[in-house]
Parts: sequence; structure tokens; C-alpha cells
Amino acid sequence: MKITIVGAGTAGLVTALILESKYQENINIKIIKSKDIDIIGVGEGSTEHWIDFMGWCGLDYNEVIRECNCTLKSGIYFKGWGKKDYLHTVHFDKKFGQEHLGYFDYVVNNGVFGKDYLSKKINPEDKTPVNQFHFDTFKLNEYLQKKCMERGIIIEEDTIKQVKLNKDGIDFIKGNKKYKSDFYIDCTGFRRVLISNFKNRWIDFSKYLKVNSAIVFPTKDLNNYNPYTTATAMSSGWMFNIPVWGRHGNGYIYDSNIINETQAQEEVEKKLKHKIEVRKQIKFTPGYLDKSWIKNCFAVGLSANFVEPLEASSIGTSIQSAYLLSHYLSNYNQKTIDRYNETIEKIMLNIRDFISMHYITNRKEKFWREQTFPDSLKDRLELFKTRLPIREDFNDTQYLLFRDPHYIVVMHGLGLINIKNIKKQYNMLASQLKQRSRIKYKNTKNFITHKEWLTRVRHT
Ligand SMILES: Cc1cc2nc3c(=O)[nH]c(=O)nc-3n(C[C@H](O)[C@H](O)[C@H](O)COP(=O)(O)OP(=O)(O)OC[C@H]3O[C@@H](n4cnc5c(N)ncnc54)[C@H](O)[C@@H]3O)c2cc1C
Repeated sequence: MKITIVGAGTAGLVTALILESKYQENINIKIIKSKDIDIIGVGEGSTEHWIDFMGWCGLDYNEVIRECNCTLKSGIYFKGWGKKDYLHTVHFDKKFGQEHLGYFDYVVNNGVFGKDYLSKKINPEDKTPVNQFHFDTFKLNEYLQKKCMERGIIIEEDTIKQVKLNKDGIDFIKGNKKYKSDFYIDCTGFRRVLISNFKNRWIDFSKYLKVNSAIVFPTKDLNNYNPYTTATAMSSGWMFNIPVWGRHGNGYIYDSNIINETQAQEEVEKKLKHKIEVRKQIKFTPGYLDKSWIKNCFAVGLSANFVEPLEASSIGTSIQSAYLLSHYLSNYNQKTIDRYNETIEKIMLNIRDFISMHYITNRKEKFWREQTFPDSLKDRLELFKTRLPIREDFNDTQYLLFRDPHYIVVMHGLGLINIKNIKKQYNMLASQLKQRSRIKYKNTKNFITHKEWLTRVRHT
């Protein structure tokens, strides 16, 4: 099968590698990228899906750290959202089946997951301490391109200007050259160069998710790195800080109906107590395409959906989409296409609701006071008033990004859990299970700083 991917941002390259790993000699992939149009140049935090992707494509842990200027990411540290600041990190505890019993200890005994990471220290013996990274997006781009080329994927420079349709979808596309293949994948980011030629609708999440603009700025390197992203609540949105090797990436994601870009910059400078240099301004409408697969055209990445950067869900969604495509691609029919689009809808609604929940706070500014929440989220929270979420609550599709562990940690951080009720559940547990569910921490005495840990890896 001949496949043309237009766009060599993270989405295009990840999709190419996932498909190539599955079909190898039976697939012929060409990527077209424009030298006149840059990648978006943001998107430096991953989710835990990243480690699956690396495993599936055979990418080496230490090589990724070295080549993409990575730091370790254990989760996201939320400052100023709930009653107290909290680290959203998840530990999947498979040995207890449907319930993640470790979370009882966390909730009932007011535990802190990832206590070790808050000390910014890492166990020197641990070869793979986390399953997420922060990376320099440009280094990541070079690395993924190199990996594609090593595997025989052709990357060609051209800018696509014409898309010719026929009854089966796309007949050919044309830039300086003409490209004809069996299947076309649109990874052109917000431009949507291929998929916009078909009839589909952008499902807009703005009613529930108000942020729609970003200013992005670097700050200087420090002596050590937080092994987590920091998300700080601001007057009209929130600010991220992502450490990568040699610098920090930052952004204020705000609602432009309340403040403008100058006000956003002033607020950041006041908070950080120094001037910043804004490198990029980005506008977006949170949501997704109701049909990101039509006939022989498939969109993935920003061309198909984007909610907002909180919880870094975008690259994870691209990975899940590419996996689904890899299962569905050979011998697909209209039923398969419909099934895919329905699954993406479930994934996107799951992201919408989970992110929306973060905005249930007691903050007093207009932006925070005027939040509205989806009924599906309200229903879930009603259900979770008397018991902790379990895996079965999130079984719409196994490709959902956010499940019971994520809900428990964020609900706990925001003070949304009725501890008295959960204690009742906990007290019913067999004492043997209570014992096994206790969260145990390692002795951190011999741990080294995060930067020292990375330095060692960079010298291997
Ligand atoms: C402020 C902000 C912060 C974010 N933070 C995170 C995060 O922490 N974690 C996360 O997972 N995601 C994050 N994202 C999302 C993340 O940036 C994207 O998921 C990721 O970069 C993938 O983008 P892409 O490949 O879809 O598009 P792009 O990077 O925009 O790539 C588009 C590609 O298409 C090519 N192209 C465009 N038009 C043509 C044409 N006519 N012909 C040929 N080629 C063409 C370009 O050359 C480029 O190669 C963030 C987004 C924003 C806005």
C-alpha cells in the first residue's frame, strides 16, 4: 500500500513510525514537508502513552533523552488551582484488578503520590524512572525524522497547493511535483490542507473550555530541573513551565475575551518578577473534527483535533489515533471508518470532561467564576460522590487518555472527593488488602539530583 503523509511535525512522524513498525516491507510511506512552513514549535510535554510508542517503535530510552534534550516528567504540578497545590502523577496498580487499591491509601490517609519527585531527586539505580518526558520539540523533530529515514521512509520537501478529488476521495495532490497514492494522511497542523477539502464539522468545545490563546516564551537554564511540568493558575487561564535540557519553555494560556496579549504578558512579568521575551502567539478553537477520516483521507494531530495544552493530551491523542489507524488500515470499509470516527469522539469527550474538571475551583476572578461544565462530567462526579472511580467507569474504548487513576488524583487535588464516604468504602476492605494498599516510599538518601541523573545518561 502506498501512503502519503503531508506534514512532518510530531503528528506526521509519529504516525509514520507507528505504521511502518506494523507493516514494514508491505507499506510504502512518503512524508512531504514544506520548507516554507514551520512546525508549530510547541508541545514539549508527553503523557504516559509516549513510553508505549517508544516500545512499539523500538526507540531507546537513553537515546531519546540524549537526542531530544529531555528531562524526566513524572506528572504535572498544579499551583493555585485547588485548596492546596498537588502533583498529578499516576501509578497503575495492576495486581488488584478493577480497583486501583493504592488510591484508597492516597485518599483516605491523605497521601502524596510521587513524593520522591517533589524532592527533585532521582534514584541513580533506576534506569527508567518515569514513563513520560519533556523534550525540546525541534530536537524531537530532528530525531524522529532521522528514525523515519533509517527505516526507509522517504521525506521530501514540497508545499502542497492542489488537492484533486475523485469518487474514492483524493485522486492526487500537487506541489512542485504531483503525488498519487492509495491513502493520504493530513498532518499539516492547523492548516488542514487535505481534510478541509471534505465536508466535515469542527465540534467546538469553547462553551466549556474558555482558553483560546497562548503566548510562549523561554526562560533561562537553572541548576536543577523539576521532574514535572508546572501549571500555575493565573487570572484568566494558566501558565506552564516545562524544563528541557538547557532552557525552560513557558506559556500563558488565556481567554482572549477577558485579557489581551499585552495584559497577559504584563501579568506574567509581574508574577515572575522579570521581563519576558514572547517568541510566539497562538490562537486556537478547542475541539475536534467530527470526521477526521473520510474515504482515503485521514487527519491526525492538530489538523484533526486540539483541546488545550493542559494535561498535554495532544501528542498522546496522535499516538492513539495512529494505533487505531494501524489496526484499521488494511482492507477498511465504510463501517470501519465510522467506527474510527466514533472512537475519536469518545476520546475527545473524555479529554474535554477531564480538562473541564480542573476548572472547578474556588478562585474568584471572572474567568474562573464564569466556567460552565458538561452534564456528562457532572454525572460522573455525582457517581463518584460515594465511591472512588474504577476502571469499569472508563470502558468506552481502551484508547481513552484519562481514566480512574487520573480522575482520583485530580479530584483529590481539587478537594472534590468526599473523604468521609470513601473512608466507609475503605473500612469495608479486608485488613489484608488495606495492608497491601499502603503506599510505600523508597529511602531517598542516596538519590541524586535530576540534573545529575540526566548528565550521567547523556554521557553513556
Ligand atoms: C501553546 C501550546 C502548547 C502545547 N503543549 C503541548 C504539550 O505539552 N504536549 C502535547 O502533547 N501537545 C502540546 N501541544 C500540541 C502540540 O504542539 C502538537 O500536538 C504537536 O506539535 C503536533 O503538531 P502537528 O504535527 O499536528 O502540526 P505542526 O507541528 O504544525 O506540523 C505541521 C507540518 O505540516 C507541514 N505543512 C503545512 N502545510 C503544508 C503544505 N501545504 N504542504 C506541505 N507541508 C505542509 C509543515 O511544514 C509541518 O511539517 C501544544 C500546543 C500549543 C498551541
